[in-house]
Amino acid sequence: MSITSYNPADPADLVVAVEAPGAEAVRAAVGRARAAQGGWLAAGAGARSAALGRIAEAVEAHAEELAALIVREVGKPLAEARGEVARTAAIWRYYAQAPYEPSGAVHEPAAGPGLLLTRRRPYGVAGLIAPWNFPLAIPSWKAAPALAVGNTAVLKPAPEATACALRLAELAALPEDVLTVVPGGAEEGSALVDAADVVSFTGSTGVGRAVVRAATGRGVPVQAELGGLNAALVLPDADVELAAGHIAAAIAGYAGQKCTATSRVIAVGSAYQPLREALVKALAAVDDSVCGPVVNAAARERMVGAVSSAVEAGASVLVGGQVPERAGWYVEPTLLAEVPAQHPLAREEFFGPVAVLHAAADLDEAIALANDTPHSLATSVHTRSLDAALAAADRLDAGMIRVNAPSSGVDFHLPFGGTKGASHGEREQGRAALEFYTVSRTVSVLPGGGL
Ligand code: NAD
Repeated sequence: MSITSYNPADPADLVVAVEAPGAEAVRAAVGRARAAQGGWLAAGAGARSAALGRIAEAVEAHAEELAALIVREVGKPLAEARGEVARTAAIWRYYAQAPYEPSGAVHEPAAGPGLLLTRRRPYGVAGLIAPWNFPLAIPSWKAAPALAVGNTAVLKPAPEATACALRLAELAALPEDVLTVVPGGAEEGSALVDAADVVSFTGSTGVGRAVVRAATGRGVPVQAELGGLNAALVLPDADVELAAGHIAAAIAGYAGQKCTATSRVIAVGSAYQPLREALVKALAAVDDSVCGPVVNAAARERMVGAVSSAVEAGASVLVGGQVPERAGWYVEPTLLAEVPAQHPLAREEFFGPVAVLHAAADLDEAIALANDTPHSLATSVHTRSLDAALAAADRLDAGMIRVNAPSSGVDFHLPFGGTKGASHGEREQGRAALEFYTVSRTVSVLPGGGL
C-alpha cells in the first residue's frame, strides 16, 4: 500500500507518494531510536539546546519554501501558512532553552544529614502521532519538548501531511535516529503506540480513544488532544461588528479545519438579530485568502450531506451551503439557524467552514448550551461587561476561554488542551509538556561514613 497526499486546491497534483513501511519498520525505527537515546541524553543540555536552536534557524531560513509546501499539501491559505512557519520556529526556539531548566528540587531530609532531591528524567522513545491540519506546528510542539528533555522521538504524521513532516525532519538535521519520521496510516500509528515509551496523540476523538486504551493497557503515559465542538457566546453589550469579525474568522479561517474553530454561535437576548445580520455579511465576504479548500473529497461530501440533512430536518441556511463550481475541494462558509438540537451538526465536530446559530435567553442559558457537549476545547465570549466575562471564565467548562477573541488561537508557551472528551492526560505546550515527557525520581544521598 502506498501513502499519498494530494493538493486540496488542485486534486490532480500528487504532492508525495511513499510506500507504507508497515508495522515491522515502525518497531525497527523505535529500536534504533532507543539505541540512540542514551547518547542524545549524555550529549548534555548545551548540545541539545544548540541542536534545537539550529532547527529554529533552519525553519526560518526556509520559511517561504515551507509555507508554499503547507499551502500545496494541506490547502492552508498563504498568510496562515506563513504564520504557522513563524510559530514553528518560535516553538523550537522556546524549547531550545528548556534543557537548561531545573529538573528537580532539593529537600531537607526528615531526619539526619544528607540530600533529598527530585530529578525528572526522560522516558526513552517518544511516539508522536499527528494530524494533518498543522503539519509543521503540531509535530514541532510534540517533538521539541520531548527532545529537549532527552528523549528521542519517532513521529508518525497524518498521510495527508507526509511531505511537510519529511521536510521538517530533513531540515532538523539531528544526529541519526534522534528524530525519525515514519510515514503511514493506522497500521503504523498503532504499531508506534505498541512500541514507544511515552505517547502523544493529536487527532480525531474516535482514533484518540483507541490510542489511549492501547497505551494505558501497556502502562505507558499517554496524552491525547482530540476534536472540539467550540462555541462563541455573544452578549447584548458586545461590539457586534467586532464580534462578528472574530467569529467569522473562527468559523471559516482555514476552512474551519482547526480543533479550536467555532462551530456553534450562541447569541444572548437582543444580540441575536444584529449578530445574525453581521455574521451573514462577514461570512459572505470571506474569500480564498482566508478560507481555502477542505482537505479531501470525503470531508466535503460529509459536510454537504450534513447541511442538506439539517435543512430537511427544518434548519435554514443563512449564508453559504453550496459547493462552488471550481476545481478543488471547496465548500462555501456556511451559517445555519433553527438546527434541531439533536442534529449531528449541533452535536459533532464536522471540521469544515460550517456553524450553527442558537439563541439563548440569558447568560445562564448560553453557558448551559455551551457546556452541553463532551468536546469542550475552546469557547469564546464576546462582551464589554467585566462581570459577564468573569462569570463565563468561572463557569464555562472548556480548556481555553477567550474573551473578545476568536476561539481559534493558541499560545505555544501556555498549557494547551480541552476538558471532558476533548482531551486525555497532561497538557501539551508550554512548560506542561516538559513534565509530560519526563518522570520524577526521588533521590536520597546519605553519608557513606568514614569522614
Ligand atoms: P485522525 O484521527 O484521522 O488521524 C490522526 C492521526 O492518527 C494520523 O496520523 C493517523 O494516521 C493516525 N491514526 C489513524 N488511525 C490510527 C490508529 N488506529 N492508531 C494510531 N494512529 C492512528 O485525525 P485527522 O483527520 O488527521 O485530524 C483531524 C482531527 O484532529 C480533528 O478531529 C481535529 O479536531 C483534531 N485535532 C485536534 C487538535 C487538538 O489539539 N485538540 C489539534 C488539531 C487537530
